[in-house]
Amino acid sequence: MSTTRTIERTYPSVRTTEGGGFIVHRPFPTRMLMDFDPFLLLDEMGPVDYAPGEAKGAPDHPHRGFETVTYCLEGQFGHKDSAGHSGTLMAGDVQWMTAGAGVVHSEMPDPEFTRTGGRVHGLQVWVNLPRRDKMIAPRYQEMPAAQIPIATSADGAVRVKVIAGEALGVSAAIETRTPILYQHFTLQPGASIAHPVPAGYRVFAYGLSGTGFYGAGKREIGAQQMIVFGNDGDTVTLSAGDEVLDVLLLGGVPLKEPVVRYGPFVMNTEDEIRQAVTDYQAGKMGLIAH
Ligand code: FE
Repeated sequence: MSTTRTIERTYPSVRTTEGGGFIVHRPFPTRMLMDFDPFLLLDEMGPVDYAPGEAKGAPDHPHRGFETVTYCLEGQFGHKDSAGHSGTLMAGDVQWMTAGAGVVHSEMPDPEFTRTGGRVHGLQVWVNLPRRDKMIAPRYQEMPAAQIPIATSADGAVRVKVIAGEALGVSAAIETRTPILYQHFTLQPGASIAHPVPAGYRVFAYGLSGTGFYGAGKREIGAQQMIVFGNDGDTVTLSAGDEVLDVLLLGGVPLKEPVVRYGPFVMNTEDEIRQAVTDYQAGKMGLIAH
């Protein structure tokens, strides 16, 4: 007999600006809210409509000790890095970047998009790396929309993009360093799913659009709220009301290791942070050729 997890807490996202001034909705971290182990941050970028010449991004900056996962929902996100990669994420594409020992990258709109302007909407999640993986070589997994597995329920009312983990019998193509779920559910009006989640995972949901109804009691929770499920069941229940529901499901096994953050570096000790700053300043994380 399966049981569905209760809702432990919900948190609204906070509207803030990041990088060169782009608008994000950030449910965590906040001063009050750090513990989403193994996740470090969730930013919903936009949705925002840029006038010609107004598009913003994040110029050259380093990362060490974790992974950044960028998912483009609308518009585009350009990127360039110190290892010589560059490209543009279009709607539906995902970039899973394992910064490991360090990269320097920029996340800027392409010049042509800046010229024309347009709508931008996306997600960035920071996934922490365990101590044993913090200094591994950087790795990129570029996943165009067409290569991301999609699962659909028998009646067609629930569709899920399986970016990480497994849903409706379909496994993700992306490899993660620790067990992670990253899934974009779309539920048609009136649809509901009790989605199995592995024991030992913390599971979170973030509504992207539409009002959702969560848990056994179908508690009504609007978009841009973070939902933290308890550890007390083997499924999570997501339900749509009378409109389409788009929701991001995140899950992972907590690392339970010390977390020391300093800007773009996330390590286990203060000494490792000092080393990261020294290495970055010495150019050991590379430079972007402009
Ligand atoms: Fe970055």
